[in-house]
This record gives sequence, C-alpha cells and structure tokens, in this order.
Amino acid sequence: MRTMDQNLQRELIMAVATSVIAHAEELTSLDQAIGDGDHGINMKRGFEAVLTDIDGLATRPLPDALHAIGMALLMKIGGASGPLYGTLFMTLGKELPASPSTEEVARALAAAIAAIKARGKSETGEKTMLDVLAPVQAELAGGGAELTARLRRRAFDAAAATTPMKAMRGRASFLGERSIGHMDPGARSSCLIVAAVCDVIGG
Ligand code: ADP
Ligand code: MG
Repeated sequence: MRTMDQNLQRELIMAVATSVIAHAEELTSLDQAIGDGDHGINMKRGFEAVLTDIDGLATRPLPDALHAIGMALLMKIGGASGPLYGTLFMTLGKELPASPSTEEVARALAAAIAAIKARGKSETGEKTMLDVLAPVQAELAGGGAELTARLRRRAFDAAAATTPMKAMRGRASFLGERSIGHMDPGARSSCLIVAAVCDVIGG
C-alpha cells in the first residue's frame, strides 16, 4: 500500500470526485426509483465544488483537506446526504493524522460512522449509506492480505445487499414495502467512493 504524500492525496481526491461525477446519472436513476431523483445531481454538484480547489486540497495536510472537503460537501450537496457526507469527511479530518496507518483509518472511519448515525438518527440495516460504510469499516479493522481488493468487493456486495432491504430512513422510507427491490442510492455512492480510494491505494 502507498504512503500518503501530496501526489497520492491529489490522486485520491481526483479519483473519488471523478467517479462520483461520472456515475451521476446512475445515482439519479436509483434515486428516481425510491426517492426524489436528485442524488446524482446533488453528489455531482458537491464533488465539482471539491474539484474547483483541487490544488489547495492536494497541498494541505490530510486532516485539513478532509475537513475542507467535508465543508464543501455539506454546503453543496444538500438533501439528506449533504450533511451526512459532510459529517463523514469532517470527522475523518478530525480523527486522522497526516499520514495514517490502516488501523488509524479503521478507527477514524468507526468514529465517522458513529457521527453519521448520531446526525441521521439512523442505524445499519435501514437501507442507507451506513449499510456500505459499516461493513467496509469492519473489513478494514480486520486487516490482512489483499485488503484493498477485499474492501472493494465488500463495498460492492454491501451496496447490492441493500436491494432487498426495506428503507427505514430518508425519503425512501415513505415508500415502505415498495422500497424493496431497488438499491439504495446513498449505498451506491458510498460504494463508488470506497472503490475509488481502493483503486488508487491498491494500484
Ligand atoms: P434526499 O433524500 O434529501 O433527496 P439524497 O437523495 O441526496 O437526499 O440522498 C439520499 C440518500 O441519503 C439515501 O439513499 C440514504 O443512503 C441516505 N440517507 C438518507 N437519510 C439518511 C439517514 N437518516 N441516515 C443515513 N443515511 C441517510
Ligand atoms: Mg434524493
């Protein structure tokens, strides 16, 4: 695995932002099925704002960059997911050192998940982004060989596993049983973020 430096930090931010932006239509169509159809446009707007300051974000210490990304997402994404993704990145910024170990990332992600749960009054199993973030955190905390490949697979499997769930939080919960049979848009966007990070770190 690569150690953190400015080049890696730039690559990570670019990879996450470009993947989310490239999948905006897919995220929108997932949200059309069980929400109001704005998740793709929301996420695209947020990560385009991040890219406008890519030079600044790449050169700041990692904790500061993560905080700034969280602020940008909080202000630009909107909807339910804006404050939650803002919380995710801002908590990572608060918890992580400039060049974190795998164990430190696992601990910081656990703190970020707890912060999202507090903010969203939500738990795992309710068909949200948490149903990807929590299993990914568990896999990360377990460590071991081929970690980035396993994390990527875990994120995809976990996003797919939201399809048969019944939504208990957010707009999708208004549909009750009719939310069953569709992948949660926030689970898919979280999967894209994890996969982009794994692609860069794992090479
Ligand atoms: P909105 O629902 O306001 O239109 P978005 O469409 O941008 O916002 O985001 C919807 C996603 O946000 C959902 O797919 C879900 O993953 C996530 N979400 C919504 N409410 C919560 C919550 N209380 N806790 C965790 N995640 C949530
Ligand atoms: Mg929506």
